[in-house]
Amino acid sequence: MNTTVLAVATACGLSTVLLIACLVQQEAIQRLRRATRTAASRSSDQQREIMQLQEDVVRSRTRVNALLDAIPDPVLLLDGGGTCLASNQSARRLFGPAEGRRIIEITQSAVLNNMLRIVSEQTDQVQEDRELMLQHPTNMTVSVTVARLGPSDDIAVILQDRTELRRLETVRRDFVANVSHELRTPLTSVKAMAETLMDGALHDESVAKRFLKTIVTDTDRLVRLTADLLALSRIESYEVEKVPVDLVALIRDIMSRLRSSIKASGLTLDVRMPRACFVDCSEDEIGQVMLNLLENAIKYSLDGGKITISVEDGQEEVLVAVADTGIGILQQDIPRIFERFYRADKARSRASGGTGLGLSIVKHIVERHGGRVWVESVYNHGSCFHFALPKEMESTDESPFGSMAPKA
Ligand code: ADP
Repeated sequence: MNTTVLAVATACGLSTVLLIACLVQQEAIQRLRRATRTAASRSSDQQREIMQLQEDVVRSRTRVNALLDAIPDPVLLLDGGGTCLASNQSARRLFGPAEGRRIIEITQSAVLNNMLRIVSEQTDQVQEDRELMLQHPTNMTVSVTVARLGPSDDIAVILQDRTELRRLETVRRDFVANVSHELRTPLTSVKAMAETLMDGALHDESVAKRFLKTIVTDTDRLVRLTADLLALSRIESYEVEKVPVDLVALIRDIMSRLRSSIKASGLTLDVRMPRACFVDCSEDEIGQVMLNLLENAIKYSLDGGKITISVEDGQEEVLVAVADTGIGILQQDIPRIFERFYRADKARSRASGGTGLGLSIVKHIVERHGGRVWVESVYNHGSCFHFALPKEMESTDESPFGSMAPKA
């Protein structure tokens, strides 16, 4: 028996501990049975041995249960007919009390039931592994191992939740497909323009100028896209390094960088901020958040519109809002607006050279700072993007760095 159980344990990997524990318990019970059979004809020494063995059985059962509960994945021990004999805490959390119920009733999965049948009926099959979808008690993708515990009919069922893993794989696949598409479009256009120029359009000055302008616009878009992809990769690869930053000074700096494009778009800027407001954050990353939000407010505003920036120094968090009187966002688009490459207004986004990554970068950065980001918007009236950063230090009215204090 030992060899079979250990063979299963080795193949099973994640259930090694469980199977060895079961083996120990089985052996304790067998020793007890052997001793009980001969006890009637033996001395009181034998009776004492039986009591000792009974205690061993109880102890080993307690250990097995503790081991079962220590396994983070749901584990069910079944008899050959598929009725649950024991379950661990994780299985009980998922399925509720399982003891005495049949596996088909517990999981409502015909596929799992079939795996169990294969393992219990076929003598050469001690283990079945599969990934399957469970619909009960909740929708989830699980990797299932069904393993027979030695020559006894008992069977262990071990489930591993793969839902998040599969979801992330889909996200990654979609992301690669989206990036390829986003790169291919401007590259195809640049190639076509260059080829047409080479085929003779170079000699027609007005056509050549128009084509070259498009080539510059498309390459600018490629540069922005690669910069955004690099920014995403950077924030996904490194832990955030927080230092005390005066948010007000930081915002004033970003504003001064965008002042000329605000003016060129015929927009006015209204700023409502305290003299200083310190928060622990990465200056580069929160600067990127403000830049993305302000660039969007400019891009999606109409001539003569207004952008309002406000900073509120709250008790536990600092609240920043960037509001515009621009085109607004349809309610149906709002839940998806922070997804990568999601564009509510595709034409306007592309025309203004948008990459579709700006808001996903904003969300990523704010959340890795332990903050929140959200938007309120009325279509055709304007949008207000808010973010809140937790305060990890007291903010002061007076900046401790005199020279860095904001200029009025
Ligand atoms: P993009 O590069 O396309 O601007 P973002 O991730 O920054 O990408 O924004 C996603 C989409 O959200 C945009 O395509 C646009 O439709 C919408 N959006 C973002 N900011 C605003 C805003 N201030 N007003 C209206 N729509 C906005």
